[in-house]
Amino acid sequence: MDENEENISDSEDTATDTDPYETDEDSEYLPNSPNRIVEAGTDDTESETSNNEEHVTPRKARKRKRNENQKQKRKRARLTGQQYVALNGKEIRKRELKPYNHRCRYGCDKIEEERRKLLFEKFYSLQSYDLQTQYLASCITKSAPKRPNRNAVSQKQFTTIITLMGTRVCKKFFLKTFDITNRRFGIVCQKKNADGFTDTDKRGHHAPKNKIDAVTRNNVITHIKMFPRYKSHYSQSQNGNTSYLPEDLCIRKMYSLYKIWCNETKNIPPVKESYYRSVFCNEFNLKFHKPHSDTCHTCDRLNNLINNSPDENIKTQSKAELELHQRKVESVKNVKKLDKEYGRQNPDKVRVICFDLQKTLPTPFLSTNKVFYLRQLWTYNLCIHDLVTGISSMYIWDETIGQRGSQEIGSCLIKYIMTLPPNIEELICYSDQCGGQNKNKNITKLFMFLVQTTSLKIIHHKFFESGHSYMECDRSFARIEKAKKKALNIFIPKNWSELIRNTSNKFQVIDMKQEDFLSFDYLNSIITDPKKDMEKKPLKWRQIVWFTYRNEDFFCFLFNQTRNPIFPSIHSQKCSALPVGRPKLSIKKLLEKSLYSTTLKIKKAKWENLIQLLPYIPPIYHDFYQKMPHEAKVSNKKTKGKPSGSKKNETQNKAEKETQNETEEETQNETDQEDDVVLSDDYEEY
Ligand SMILES: [Zn+2]
Ligand SMILES: [Zn+2]
Repeated sequence: MDENEENISDSEDTATDTDPYETDEDSEYLPNSPNRIVEAGTDDTESETSNNEEHVTPRKARKRKRNENQKQKRKRARLTGQQYVALNGKEIRKRELKPYNHRCRYGCDKIEEERRKLLFEKFYSLQSYDLQTQYLASCITKSAPKRPNRNAVSQKQFTTIITLMGTRVCKKFFLKTFDITNRRFGIVCQKKNADGFTDTDKRGHHAPKNKIDAVTRNNVITHIKMFPRYKSHYSQSQNGNTSYLPEDLCIRKMYSLYKIWCNETKNIPPVKESYYRSVFCNEFNLKFHKPHSDTCHTCDRLNNLINNSPDENIKTQSKAELELHQRKVESVKNVKKLDKEYGRQNPDKVRVICFDLQKTLPTPFLSTNKVFYLRQLWTYNLCIHDLVTGISSMYIWDETIGQRGSQEIGSCLIKYIMTLPPNIEELICYSDQCGGQNKNKNITKLFMFLVQTTSLKIIHHKFFESGHSYMECDRSFARIEKAKKKALNIFIPKNWSELIRNTSNKFQVIDMKQEDFLSFDYLNSIITDPKKDMEKKPLKWRQIVWFTYRNEDFFCFLFNQTRNPIFPSIHSQKCSALPVGRPKLSIKKLLEKSLYSTTLKIKKAKWENLIQLLPYIPPIYHDFYQKMPHEAKVSNKKTKGKPSGSKKNETQNKAEKETQNETEEETQNETDQEDDVVLSDDYEEY
């Protein structure tokens, strides 16, 4: 068991600085080269994501490792006469003024060494090939050969007269003064036209022979635009215009779909993968959606500083910080291990669980490539894993039944807690810090309420460090993913339940019905939002890693910023909004009001896409999709509104947004870069 845990941690650790969704490890690409970002800003190509903004700076930009710097360095060295290594590996010597003492029929010896030196230096300070050529050409007068040699095989085309500072000199002297080759001399002569002008250097100014034409390029762009994209609700402030592609895609997968598209639909030759990739990176601001828990911003930031900061002090400081962070990460694992042991020793009193949402299950799940271009129905799976028995309870619903906000998560937790035997008094929960789902006022209120109204006397809710959640749920999810690869008959959400049920006898599947999702209106009416601690200091949600809800703390709770029990917990303010006289609390009141009154409508575009998939689905399931409630019109992209479902739906969304805003407000001042708290899994189609 523990060995497996190590394995998970290992793989996650190595994944911190590489994109786990990038299957190919192309060493030719440097992620996020800062140069590139600047360059990308000058790119005027319009991308789809820029609906509202005129200009989009692709955030994700990769670049060939043989960067401009090397090339430019070489060029500068060549122009200034310095030593350098040519592209073919040949070492080119430094240019220097060559002494040349000789006697000739010209006046070469009239030019002193001192003046020659000056000429040499001036020549190399020009730092431009064209200017140098121009200068050399100005010294040369070209004329027709005086005495054509009748016996020569190739006729001399012209003769030259070289003048340096008004003095005619011989060619050898001229070459030695500037230390140029005979070849360059020839080129200068060639470029010198009869009218006295010199041609400019054409090198590097031609369009490359293999340049891909605009039509082909546009085909690549068209193809990338064919994939459905999503906007993240909560990460907009951080990521601006970034849009997300479904998590089961990666560039390589898209490229393979592109090749098929070229061959089968367009009948055109495909471009190379590297080209496709460069268009993807430079023309679009797209990311592959991945669960918030997959990346740790702290690790990323510190590793970046350690590797790239020029300041040694910052490096050392970052190293220390990273070590502290890693120790924290380790400490969660240890604390969890201890809790697990505690649960094992007290099976009649204690339950130790962790819970997490699986990444969305696209429905229908078909083998046709068409699904990648179409929006699919989402099926959600919340796994509540019992650390002692190893049983995973899977709560499954699709997006017409409920969303995946805190009330939905809370409702699944209630359902789980209601099945606990009455002798269980203590519940220890582990989850990640996702603000929209697990760490928010709704869950806090729920737990405050449950320790008053159920047999549970104490609930602990402990959080993993953002980006480092080592949950047994992940192992269950991995088994489902494995089974998914062989799945042939996932046409409607119910088929997912069946698949999961058959994957392991340790999986218990609970199909969530709409009435199972409860409205927290009642809780909101009796419990106020927890905002401050006992000393009236605002709660710093982001820093809290451990909540304790006890029966003796009526509508308040304890919290800690560390998981170490040595440090004393802090008391929250009382959050009771009960009228005077304290009416008797009953869980029934919470259970009787459901969150939604009708099936939720899906977006029209999604419904239309689903209908397009019907030819791949057995007819018995067609009704399910054809009768699915959906919006009447394609929603306007510019209104950032939520689906106009029932009124209840809207209030719920509002409540969630508020929680979110609070979390954001309270954490704004903190320098900590962990945006996981405000990042939600909830990403919306547009
Ligand atoms: Zn001479
Ligand atoms: Zn980390």
